[in-house]
Amino acid sequence: MDKKNNTWGDTPIFGSRQMKEPAPAEFIPEHRTPAVIAYQMVKDETFPQTQPRLNLATFVTTYMDDYGTRLMNEAVGINYIDETEYPRVAVMCGRCINMVANMWNTPEKGDWKTGAVGIGSSEACMLGGVAAWLRWRERRKSQGKPVDKPNLVMSSAYQVVWEKFCQLWQIEMRTVPITHKHPTLNIEDALKLCDENTICIVPIAGVTWTGMNDDIEALDFALDDFNAKTGYDIPIHVDAASGGFILPFLNPNKKWDFRLKWVLSISTSGHKYGLVYPGLGWVVWKDKKYLPKEMSFSVNYLGASITQVGLNFSRPGAQILAQYYNFIHLGKDGYREIHSNSMEIARYCHARIAQMPCFKNYSAELENPLFIWYMDPEYDRKANWTLYDMQDKLMQKGWMVPAYSMPKNIEDMVVMRIVVRQGMSRDMADMLLQDITDAVEELEKLQYPTPSRIAAQKQEKTKGKVYTH
Ligand SMILES: *Cc1c(COP(=O)(O)O)cnc(C)c1O
Repeated sequence: MDKKNNTWGDTPIFGSRQMKEPAPAEFIPEHRTPAVIAYQMVKDETFPQTQPRLNLATFVTTYMDDYGTRLMNEAVGINYIDETEYPRVAVMCGRCINMVANMWNTPEKGDWKTGAVGIGSSEACMLGGVAAWLRWRERRKSQGKPVDKPNLVMSSAYQVVWEKFCQLWQIEMRTVPITHKHPTLNIEDALKLCDENTICIVPIAGVTWTGMNDDIEALDFALDDFNAKTGYDIPIHVDAASGGFILPFLNPNKKWDFRLKWVLSISTSGHKYGLVYPGLGWVVWKDKKYLPKEMSFSVNYLGASITQVGLNFSRPGAQILAQYYNFIHLGKDGYREIHSNSMEIARYCHARIAQMPCFKNYSAELENPLFIWYMDPEYDRKANWTLYDMQDKLMQKGWMVPAYSMPKNIEDMVVMRIVVRQGMSRDMADMLLQDITDAVEELEKLQYPTPSRIAAQKQEKTKGKVYTH
């Protein structure tokens, strides 16, 4: 037997040399470790983490049914980019883009709608942003005008990808602060920030911070007027990371998508309410003419010409199979049923939180299956604890319910958020609510302020808040 390498068969896993030594952290080990031992080490490394299903912080899928999971596992070795080898994956991708485009009421005719797959909304947002920037450049150049000062306008409740986009492409980011009075994009103020260098306005369907939706129809209406007056022709890219798969099923009559004149592109996360495991995103343009030629190249070995766009080259193909599977298996009915259950459970939690004297919900109504709440200001003044302590308490029960401070301008407000997704049942919600109730009870027994409360008090003294809502 090869003692040094613990050849499998002779040594029990936990009797092995590797199990009593520190895990490799800096260098690739010189010698082999049997697969069973290596597997055990890697698997055990993940043990103290939150169970994905109890992670109520994330928007991203943590539950798929057995067949979806099986399809993904079976396709785990497929690289999406190898279209010559796996042309049917490319066809399925094209079909998914078609379905997403039609779900958003694209007016585009033809067999293949214009869109792209991404690793998530981040890549999809980048592609939408780049297209808007290139279109703006093209237009400016044709008018003989400078192209050195592009800007983008959105609310301060943006997701961090937009900061990255603006940094990487050197586009000035102009943000309209969200306030307690205007918890979503203030349209009037947004238009005040627009000028001839604005590449697009980016409203959000399913604001990460609050769960609310920007009023895209009202924005489109106001922008139409603005564009007519100024001749700027500023378009809209909708960041519908979570709303893109919610609105079409739960609020199909609400106009936020390609039915609106100035909405030229929309992005979403297939791995959020598209119900696929990460990472998958989609971006769709209203028509081929809005996708700059520099960004796309066509492949024609599929019997039809499919347009290919992306920042990444290689990427997993399994997610595409899973998205296509979800579309076939669930159909519109299935999506509607799953998302309305999520909505109902979210509303139930929202109502129960409202009944707790120490909390206040941020908004009275839910537009998406998630919501935020904060500590009642009266209660807050006397409490020995903060929502950060609540987060810790719930973590001890296995839940991840994040507490965080709001964006600039209203950053004094600390909130907690629950995102309800497929995989969260009413029974689980009841368990969570019981754990919240118990945690409040325990925290109320505290004789002295917690470190996070002391820190909050210090901050208050120096800055003098307090928020009202
Ligand atoms: C999640 C999210 C993103 C980023 O999406 P990923 O799929 O995580 O890359 C962008 N915008 C909004 C509004 C989001 O909610």
